[in-house]
Formats: sequence, structure tokens, C-alpha cells
Amino acid sequence: MASSSINNNGHQKQSEAAVMPKNHLRSDALYQYIMETSVYPREPECMKELREITEKHPLSMMATTADEVQFLNMLIKLMNAQNAMEIGVLTGYSLLATALALPQHGKILAMDIDRKTYEVGRPTLEKAGVAHKVDFREGPALPILDELFKDENNHGSFDFIFVDADKNNYLNYHGRLIELVRVGGVIAYDNTLWNGSVVTSPDMSFDEHVMSLRDFVLELNKALAVDPRIDICMLPVGDGITLCRRMN
Ligand code: SAH
Ligand code: CA
Repeated sequence: MASSSINNNGHQKQSEAAVMPKNHLRSDALYQYIMETSVYPREPECMKELREITEKHPLSMMATTADEVQFLNMLIKLMNAQNAMEIGVLTGYSLLATALALPQHGKILAMDIDRKTYEVGRPTLEKAGVAHKVDFREGPALPILDELFKDENNHGSFDFIFVDADKNNYLNYHGRLIELVRVGGVIAYDNTLWNGSVVTSPDMSFDEHVMSLRDFVLELNKALAVDPRIDICMLPVGDGITLCRRMN
């Protein structure tokens, strides 16, 4: 958790703009309270192991937080999801949380352009006894989705889809995913508050990477809000997660 780089409003200081905030709560103390009271005490040993492995990885700032994966795990169980998908795996931290929530015969189709990061977490997935649920495909997600789309049997076949990859493609993904998810199923888009950059004020500054993708996130949020095919709910968990439930 990058707590020291975030001021009490959850905004980044200019000098530390490269460090991404990992929550949008009013104070770090409140966040710490949630983590210490209800997240860490209930964290499975394998999740702790992969969290610690991921923290040492150079791209760890992209990983989901422990409170957010606890939420995903709960949501997947509440939905009784069996067939899941994840776009953007990194070391497999959110993937492990998803795999743990699925039943023994559950499946998760996971895709990432980089197999190497997935392999960092693979031994933990195996140790946790859930690796058999994971079907990992290396490559950019869009062509993989298009391939899936071609087979009508895949339409309406996914219960839960977690999208956590290249923000500039989220709307392209949405066009495919809305057909691939079942009616009543959920697509969850991550980072929809995009480091808080969706609302800018003069005391806030963001690094180039954040600014370069900000318009895509704004466009996504606007498009989801008027999409008649879905119910939506934007939660300030992690860096913002928007749940979209397919209506029909
Ligand atoms: N869900 C992970 C974090 C994912 S970070 C977790 O919570 O731990 C974002 C990932 O998206 C990176 O691993 C990156 O390689 C991947 N990615 C970026 N562009 C992609 C694309 N076009 N298709 C698939 N994956 C992509
Ligand atoms: Ca994310």
C-alpha cells in the first residue's frame, strides 16, 4: 500500500505523482483500519503469499489491493459464478482470489500479453490447488475476444468478468463482453476512478501515464452510465470498480 505518498484527501503530491494511490478513502488511517480489522485477519495464506511476492515485483503498483480482492471473492461467491474471465493478470493476484471463489469445477479464462508475470504467481496457484481452474492465454485480449465471439456457444456463457488491463480498450472490450456475459452476469471494470484523475483540481497533478489514459476512462464512465443493456454501480473500492450487470 502506497500510504505515505497520499495526503489525507487521497490526492497525490506533485513530487510523488508517479506513485498511484490505491484507495480513495478520506484518510489513510481509515483504510488501515479496514485492512487490519477485516481484510488481513481473513486473508488466506496463499493470498498473503502471492500478495507478498507481488509487492516485490517491479510492476506491483498495478496489482489489485487486498481489500478489493476480498470484495471480488465475496461477489463471485454471492453470484455463485462458475465460468469467469479475467483480462489483465499480472502475477495472478486477482486471478487467485477469483479461482478460490469458484467451485471445484469452475473455470476462469485469463488473458495477458505477458506470460512471464503470470508465471511469477503460477506456483502459488498450484500450491493452493486451484490451477486446474485456470485457462491462461497469452496475447492481446481483443483478438482473443473476437475469436471467442465467433463461436455462438460462448455467447452468454460467462458469469463474471474482471477487466483490469489497457484502459484505452475498455470500450472495445465492452462491445464484445456484453454478448459473452450471461443475462444477470457481471462485468467488473477496474480503475474507473483512475487515480482520482477523473476529477481534476489545481492542487492535483498526475503523471503522464495517468493523463494519457484519463480521457478513455472518462469516456468509458460516460458510456456505461447511458448503456441501456446494463445496471451499473460504481464503487470506491481500490481505484474504483464499476460493476455492470447484463439486463437482457
Ligand atoms: N488483475 C491484476 C493486475 C493487472 S495489471 C491484479 O489485480 O493483480 C494489468 C495487466 O494488463 C498487465 O499485466 C498487462 O500486461 C496486461 N495488459 C495490458 N494490455 C493488455 C492487452 N491488450 N491484453 C491483455 N492484457 C493486457
Ligand atoms: Ca487494477
